[in-house]
Amino acid sequence: MTRARVLLLTAALGPLDYRVPQGSDAPLGSVVVAPLGPRRMGGVVWEDESFGAPEPVGDNRLRNLYEIVPVPPVPAPLRRLVEWTSDYYLAPPGAVLRMVLPGAAFADARRPIVEYRATGELPARMTPQRIVALEKIGARQGLVRELAALADVSEAVIRGLVQAGALEAVSVSADAPYPEPDPDFGPPDLSAEQAAAASQLRDAVTAAIFETLLLDGVTGSGKTEVYMEAIAAAVEAGKQALVLLPEIALTEPMLTRFAARFGCEPVAWHSGLRSTERRRAWHAIARGEAKIVVGARSALFLPYADLGLIVVDEAHETSFKQEDGVHYHARDVAVMRGHFEALPVILASATPALESLAQVEAGRYRHIILPARYGGAMLPDLAAIDMRQDPPDRGRWLAPPLVDALADRLHKGEQSLLFLNRRGFAPLTLCRTCGHRIQCPNCTAWMVEHRLVHRLACHHCGHVMPPPRLCPECEDEDSLVACGPGVERVADEVTLRFPEARTAIVTSDTLWSPAKAAEFVANVEGGLIDIIIGTQLVTKGYHFPNLTLVGVVDADLGLDGGDLRASERTFQQIAQVAGRAGRGVKPGEVLIQTRVPDAPVMAALVANDREGFYAAEAASRRQAGAPPYGRFAALVISSEDIDVARGVAQRLGQKAPVADGLAIYGPAPAPLAMLRGRHRFRLLLHAPRSFDLQGTIRDWVARIDWPAKARLAIDVDPYSFV
Ligand SMILES: [Zn+2]
Ligand SMILES: [Zn+2]
Repeated sequence: MTRARVLLLTAALGPLDYRVPQGSDAPLGSVVVAPLGPRRMGGVVWEDESFGAPEPVGDNRLRNLYEIVPVPPVPAPLRRLVEWTSDYYLAPPGAVLRMVLPGAAFADARRPIVEYRATGELPARMTPQRIVALEKIGARQGLVRELAALADVSEAVIRGLVQAGALEAVSVSADAPYPEPDPDFGPPDLSAEQAAAASQLRDAVTAAIFETLLLDGVTGSGKTEVYMEAIAAAVEAGKQALVLLPEIALTEPMLTRFAARFGCEPVAWHSGLRSTERRRAWHAIARGEAKIVVGARSALFLPYADLGLIVVDEAHETSFKQEDGVHYHARDVAVMRGHFEALPVILASATPALESLAQVEAGRYRHIILPARYGGAMLPDLAAIDMRQDPPDRGRWLAPPLVDALADRLHKGEQSLLFLNRRGFAPLTLCRTCGHRIQCPNCTAWMVEHRLVHRLACHHCGHVMPPPRLCPECEDEDSLVACGPGVERVADEVTLRFPEARTAIVTSDTLWSPAKAAEFVANVEGGLIDIIIGTQLVTKGYHFPNLTLVGVVDADLGLDGGDLRASERTFQQIAQVAGRAGRGVKPGEVLIQTRVPDAPVMAALVANDREGFYAAEAASRRQAGAPPYGRFAALVISSEDIDVARGVAQRLGQKAPVADGLAIYGPAPAPLAMLRGRHRFRLLLHAPRSFDLQGTIRDWVARIDWPAKARLAIDVDPYSFV
């Protein structure tokens, strides 16, 4: 008889042994469905020697595998990547494997799925709910569940609309082939510098060996056109290419640019896909038919049949770090995937992470520099507005010089962008009478007012409530006031000052789908917008030639909180948003509102002294032993019961390992002491680079008994310290 060791798709268990049914074959990597207690569970046939041996089970007690799923086996290099990720980030291997095999992997690609779309007929009985639902659904189609979510109604309402003839069933085939990209479709017009960089990247793809290349070019230098040449080389070689993007909102304009270069849109992979699209994409990726894949970080673990290149665009973005479940950094795991699969990895950025520059310095990454903007466009002029000398009017947020600059652009018919990295209207609602601040019941966080939708919302757990009329504390009437600005409030000020200006607010609240992002781009390109007010969502990727002014409303915002990367992030964010100005023929101007114009990061930005900033930042990190010259890891213990969480944290603290060079801070209440109703305590480890942090943590957490009510989250190389 044949045994198979199977890694199941559950975080709770290691590998288990099963019997392969007679007449079947289940080689390593096979995707299977196995019995687990009374349940059916997916998994992959794995090497016997990985993850240590499970409890020995006699042949006669083994259970039969239910099914060997007819999809390509998970290749050995990807199995090694799952093991490495599990080991490095101290995450259960089954949890990592779930990113390789989402539900779409087990859906039969040949079986058509039934979706629904509007017929244009209105039901005889129209309720307000039905009117709103049909309006929101518009021309889109999807499963009943997806349409219900889209329209914010119950599934029963959708089914009612089907019965009334307002929605009709459509059969969708999930294995329709994708169009083949043509590497010669729209050859680019490259500058000499771009061509030189592109030829290095093409050669790296042809060589088909592991190498990391840092494509480092100022904003507007045409990095995308350059790395598209590497993608063309991969497609010419019959291989697949993966492009990771930090934001889903960026996907849509990117798809259009790819279509112009390759004659068809690439295959997209992100959380916004409908389940039929997801199923079709997963199977095409696993069969090697999806040649170019553009996706969010979750696209990184998919089982590409023949990957030839990975590009991480805007590689410095911290949103590549996953902050729940498996706490991995997609940029770093992408480099490991390149290592296991022997392929080049391109990290593209105008403001590389200090981590990436340190790898260049150590000789491990090749540095490819694009020093100038494409087409002779000049970098914009940056200037600081000292908010202590030039304060805005009372209750306003824009200083006089910025207001004058906006008026000037409006007069000339040019576009402006105001950047404030804060969603909503106001970050805090305060009672003037008693000083009460409205806080989330589940989190240590203020409720943020979103005036456009008349709600207070918690940005951590999603809790929403209508704005109260009375103070919940002293019950005084009309005593609640909004404190501080969010983008909605800045937009209000713009409308007050310039009633004729056409504005657009750009945040994840307004650009929540690729279609919305496409609409925004079309409006700006079509000259229908004068002033954009946006969060970090507008800082990258967009190319608007008529945008000549960028105003940074509060440059100091990111410096609060004492995060070790605060200066670096502020530099990157402002350099990125500044890069939106003056990308066409007309020169750009950037005005930075700050109360600390002398801070090194502000001085470096205004002087356009990137090298000086990075050198100073590197020196101070080296001295502090901070990344990339030292390492951190965080253990966060949480429980709904504060005593349980505190108790576990204290027991861990008592058993803390002692070692040369290792410092352990805590246990202490985490800065976000409560999150989603769970109390949180934190221990922070700090050690030199060479220190075996993972081994130390593994031994340490095994030394105490874990009550069922306590949960442990381990964050190796954390980017968030709350
Ligand atoms: Zn009050
Ligand atoms: Zn909350």
